[in-house]
Amino acid sequence: MTVGVGCERAGGGPVRAGRGELLLRRVLAGSGAPAAERLAAGAPDEGDSAGPLRHAVRLPAREERTAAWPDWVPPRVRAAWEREGVHAPWSHQAEAAELAWSAQDVVVATGTASGKSMAYQLPVLARFDRDPRATALYLSPTKALAADQLRALEALDLPDVRPAPFDGDTPTDARDWARRHGRWVFSNPDMLHRALLPRHGQWATFLRRLQFVVVDECHTYRGVFGSHVALLLRRLLRVCARYGSRPTLVLASATVAEPAAFARRLTGRDVAAVTEDGSPAAGRTIALWEPPLLPELTGENGAPVRRPAGTEAARMLADLVLEGARTLAFVRSRRAADGGPPGAQRLLADVDPALAERVAAYRGGYLPEERRALEAGLVGGALLGVATTNALELGVDIAGLDAVVVAGFPGTRASFWQQSGRAGRARDEALVVLVARDDPMDTYLVHHPDALLGAPVEGCVLDPANPYVLGPQLVCAAAELPLREDDVDEVFGGAAAAAVLDELVDDGVLRRRPTGWYWPSTRERPAGSVDIRGSGLGQVAVVEAATGRMLGTVDGASAPATVHSGAVYLHRGETYVVEQLDLEAGVAAVTTGDPGFRTDARSTADVEVARVLAQRDQGRVRVSYGDVTVTSRVVEYLRRAPDGTVLATVPLDLPEQVLRTRGVWYDLDEEALVAAGITPARIPGALHAAEHAAIGLLPLFAICDRWDVGGMSTALHPQTGRPTVFVHDGHPGGAGFAERGHAVLDRWLAATRAAIVDCTCRTGCPSCVQSPKCGNGNAPLDKAGAVRVLDMVLEALAGAGPDTCGGARTQGRAAG
Ligand SMILES: [Zn+2]
Ligand SMILES: [Zn+2]
Repeated sequence: MTVGVGCERAGGGPVRAGRGELLLRRVLAGSGAPAAERLAAGAPDEGDSAGPLRHAVRLPAREERTAAWPDWVPPRVRAAWEREGVHAPWSHQAEAAELAWSAQDVVVATGTASGKSMAYQLPVLARFDRDPRATALYLSPTKALAADQLRALEALDLPDVRPAPFDGDTPTDARDWARRHGRWVFSNPDMLHRALLPRHGQWATFLRRLQFVVVDECHTYRGVFGSHVALLLRRLLRVCARYGSRPTLVLASATVAEPAAFARRLTGRDVAAVTEDGSPAAGRTIALWEPPLLPELTGENGAPVRRPAGTEAARMLADLVLEGARTLAFVRSRRAADGGPPGAQRLLADVDPALAERVAAYRGGYLPEERRALEAGLVGGALLGVATTNALELGVDIAGLDAVVVAGFPGTRASFWQQSGRAGRARDEALVVLVARDDPMDTYLVHHPDALLGAPVEGCVLDPANPYVLGPQLVCAAAELPLREDDVDEVFGGAAAAAVLDELVDDGVLRRRPTGWYWPSTRERPAGSVDIRGSGLGQVAVVEAATGRMLGTVDGASAPATVHSGAVYLHRGETYVVEQLDLEAGVAAVTTGDPGFRTDARSTADVEVARVLAQRDQGRVRVSYGDVTVTSRVVEYLRRAPDGTVLATVPLDLPEQVLRTRGVWYDLDEEALVAAGITPARIPGALHAAEHAAIGLLPLFAICDRWDVGGMSTALHPQTGRPTVFVHDGHPGGAGFAERGHAVLDRWLAATRAAIVDCTCRTGCPSCVQSPKCGNGNAPLDKAGAVRVLDMVLEALAGAGPDTCGGARTQGRAAG
């Protein structure tokens, strides 16, 4: 355990005990950890790994940096903010607004609560003031966020802005009003795709006058969804150009790696990035916490189990409430949110029943009034503790709490900072605790504070050249306006789009005429059947057999593994059993009821290399990236008792699934592996363990979740002729994850190695090499062998050329 000051803010003098550290002592004392007294005594304690506290880093408060109002901001716009108590913009707000005003596309990528809205509100409102006909379009990934932004704009109470919502909930007459009279329309990509662009003729006046397009929370546009949105924005800009407008783009993003490059990929235009955050930040102590292994329990294949992050968080919540600290605990699943506070409530009831009533649960699906009441209770102090799922994350106005407990890394640094940003006030230091779940990514982060606190390494990836996304998007575009040669070259990416168009013409979907590509039907609109949020493999509806009520949908790609006949399926905290899966019809029929066991699907998979796009050959190790074909089949499932015991194995007869996608892979010389101490019998387990951990760590570099990628390892691959490990995208055509993995391979595998070594288990557990989605039941796995495999690959990469990142590799090795 180490206690220090944030690395990039070094030189801040001795650590003073602020409120955050006092709260941390309380949490430590409650854990019964041996390190508690030593921290209390203020002694930094290097190398003690007995307690659950891995690192505690104190981030001092950051002073605000303001700028003068730009001289083009009209007095009444300025006065509106002054009424709200804002007397000068922060430096990043002014910088981004200035760029947007000069018609330079801009992305502002700064922290939570840094007032990114003002960066686009200033230029839009100033333009509205000068040009009474100008219009603007705001796009956000969720309806809730758009509604919050619309409310904030209305609060400025400026005349002639005429903001109007245009989303799935907007009634018909209000939609008509938005179209005819709205100057600032608040919408989302789904509505742009399905409603606005297909009927652009009705929006001609609005589009002709369109001066700004705001793309909020743009880091959420990643993977397949991001690839769709990238092409959707190109569709919008092309239609605008036809009406004679060229709106300036203003994007707002969480802090991610290379925001300008990402924004360029998303929009197809050159976008300037503003990343220097001028907003003030409260001082905080960030504690990284790894729950202990529980020797009395075992998991799959006898693996040790850690105390669950949710249990640990409930205990912390109770301790902090006892201390009078207003605390928000974030847990990852809805079930955990339902279970979190009762845990804390029980603990509190033993000490002070009055306090137990000041703890509550919050989850999505609440009515807006319920949600607001809960938030008001927490901000006002009537409530001291709230446990919540990630539902509270976007667009909710809670700040200034004393402590935030994050149970399980929320998947991205951006989300983590968003959640931790709820804690801290100007003069009062706050505590933020990240409690690791049993997952290799969490293990890595609590052992490597720089990965959270240093410069961002996670990037947003998407691939607007994916033919599986280009195909339906080009059809939609052609139905909006016939596609001309220069559209294909200048807007939709050239050769890749031309190849897709040729196929669409061959298939009779589009018609080729001398003037371009045409959608033949004037009545039907293709957008309705193009799902921009799906994987491209369709959806399976989960339907209650008795009533026909639809409970939800499952992605077609994962349906055979999650809703096969006989599967136990959890949905919103309820347990169902799947009676029948009809893949043709896209329906899984379920009945309510908990059979007292859970199910685990087993599958087989083959990966075939279709085309190598890049390769580095170091002899003993060869690294490749390219097109792969993944053929998989779910073959059976296990019924497991709650303690994990296998009750039965049931065979399944499901069709093969074929996925053409992108992959990154390495193959190794078998003799070299044996020389490194991995006997042939150990090779399968060593490769398999290295594959699992690498999949678990990819989200550190490319924002994704583990369902976006898959993997396969084999001791002898027929094409490479050697032991081989594949990691591949989970979507047809790929979505950029394997590509990013290939680009940062050395850093990615160094982090993978570090996560395995950091885990104190002996032979492998869910915190390092076991995977919750393994089709092989997490066997065989060889933890020590995986480290040797990764050493061999890292050594080869280090010798591969000057682009290898020595620093990151050294960091990974030092951890061993
Ligand atoms: Zn482990
Ligand atoms: Zn596996």
